[in-house]
Amino acid sequence: MTFAKDYRALYRDEIKKQIRLNQEHLESLNHLGTQVNFEVDSSKLPDPNQARKVFFFDIDNTLYRKSTKVQLLMQQSLSNFFKYELGFDENEAERLIESYYEEYGLSVKGLIKNKQIDDVLQYNTFIDDSLPLQDYLKPDWKLRELLINLKKKKFGKFDKLWLFTNSYKNHAIRCIKILGIADLFDGLTYCHYDRPIDEEFICKPDPRFFETAKLQSGLTTFANAWFIDDNESNVESALAVGMGHVIHLIEDYQYDSENIITRDRANKQQFSILKDILEIPLVMRRGTFHPSSIAIKEKEDVEEEGETVNWSKQQINVQSS
Ligand SMILES: [Mg+2]
Repeated sequence: MTFAKDYRALYRDEIKKQIRLNQEHLESLNHLGTQVNFEVDSSKLPDPNQARKVFFFDIDNTLYRKSTKVQLLMQQSLSNFFKYELGFDENEAERLIESYYEEYGLSVKGLIKNKQIDDVLQYNTFIDDSLPLQDYLKPDWKLRELLINLKKKKFGKFDKLWLFTNSYKNHAIRCIKILGIADLFDGLTYCHYDRPIDEEFICKPDPRFFETAKLQSGLTTFANAWFIDDNESNVESALAVGMGHVIHLIEDYQYDSENIITRDRANKQQFSILKDILEIPLVMRRGTFHPSSIAIKEKEDVEEEGETVNWSKQQINVQSS
């Protein structure tokens, strides 16, 4: 028991140290796009506007690539929490993490439900705030250019670019600052890890959380919105609430005619699959787009505008950009 307690003390010390480093790093940032221009936790909702167009962005594995391996970092962080803070052995920790994810979508919901934590914000501090994101993420100037363009006529003329995440605001803001895109967003809808433990924890894919994002962004109808996320359940919900266009970002997507995603949704006009967020302009040009990166990859070999390339059983007319 003393042994376990020592581990917990060491773990907590390490977490504290890393959070301090993260804070120092964040304060030292001086590149473009580290300024947040919207009011976080604004007390009043904007007046809804019939004409308003909003683009909702998930953050993790969407604004930065899955291949950055931040996800693995998060998994490690979660595993450490279960082992050193909660005292589970390695196998039990892995089993619980997996079963909570399957049953609740988010580990924190399982921990709340099973009364294994009594402070959700502290849990978030241990997990997200302690991630050394600065070792994995860097400013993304191509993404910055894309986001700037989305407010232009040619790229959909969105009135607002809105962050819509299941993380807490600290993590959300840290990500966009490191990526050099913090100044380009108009607002943030985040999960309230700071609410009392007995309050219901609402996050994506709960349709009520989508309603919150709609109210906070001043959107009157989901039909005026675009949505991008890497999570299948969130994409399902976005389609169910009637988002104008839904993009499922699947970085390692492999075209497969038996693939359920492709089969069930291929004909839906408001749905696209992209392997890279930078491909959004292709969706704009076509109205809808599917496993595009295969086409994109081939596009590199296509010099002439309007030339046709093949991917699997379909043909896509790819314009040089
Ligand atoms: Mg995500």
